[in-house]
Amino acid sequence: MIQLENITKTYGTGDAAVQALQNVDLHIPAGQVHGVIGLSGAGKSTLIRCVNLLERPSSGRVIVDGQEMTRLSAPQLNKARHRIGMIFQHFNLLTTRTVYDNVALPLELMGTKRQAIRQRVLPLLELVGLQDKASQYPAQLSGGQKQRVAIARALASEPRVLLCDEATSALDPQTTGSILELLRDINQKLNLTILLITHEMEVVKSICHRVSLISDGQLVEEAEVGEFFTAP
Ligand code: ADP
Ligand code: ADP
Repeated sequence: MIQLENITKTYGTGDAAVQALQNVDLHIPAGQVHGVIGLSGAGKSTLIRCVNLLERPSSGRVIVDGQEMTRLSAPQLNKARHRIGMIFQHFNLLTTRTVYDNVALPLELMGTKRQAIRQRVLPLLELVGLQDKASQYPAQLSGGQKQRVAIARALASEPRVLLCDEATSALDPQTTGSILELLRDINQKLNLTILLITHEMEVVKSICHRVSLISDGQLVEEAEVGEFFTAP
């Protein structure tokens, strides 16, 4: 479950201040796929980064899986972030590490033992369909395969929530379709709550249960996907 309560985010101060989010309220029940759609500069990126506090809101509360993120100390926040996976437009893989070692990284950082890492990484590679690519490097993979590695890495710490920041924007339509299919599969198999931001209507139509429209830092509309796209 993801809950944003009255979130405001201002970058900079004085004359240079930019109000990126204004009084944003959003509630996403467990197991839902929720899309936030809006034009460039509307505040999508800021909104999604406020969920795991990559950006700290100027005011308001962020609650993920019952835990108020905005009240945690730095070490508590680190731990809470294990419950939140994130994927990005440009994948953000480490180029000097193999596929296996990219997926293993979050577990290494958590101090997981080698054997346990192995027992977690191999099934994840299977889940995303890359079991035969474990020893390859990111440069040897297609864009869709790189995003699959990033998804496996995001799932390594057994998150309850997955944040997708324009995750298909760098991919061609066919590859986008297969990544969305994988995300739908993960949502169902793992009952993972997914928040995604995108500027592409098709992405929202294809996997979201509900959708919000963001404009100038404010959520201006929210609806079931079917309702949203048939509204007059
Ligand atoms: P979107 O993801 O919808 O394109 P963003 O959240 O990136 O929107 O940006 C919302 C607004 O906040 C924009 O006006 C943008 O210029 C501004 N902004 C984003 N990040 C920063 C930052 N680090 N410093 C100052 N302004 C920022
Ligand atoms: P070992 O039991 O032989 O010590 P580990 O599980 O400790 O193996 O892994 C050591 C390194 O070998 C890992 O960091 C990773 O780079 C690589 N590795 C392990 N298992 C695989 C695999 N199935 N495919 C590709 N590389 C692997």
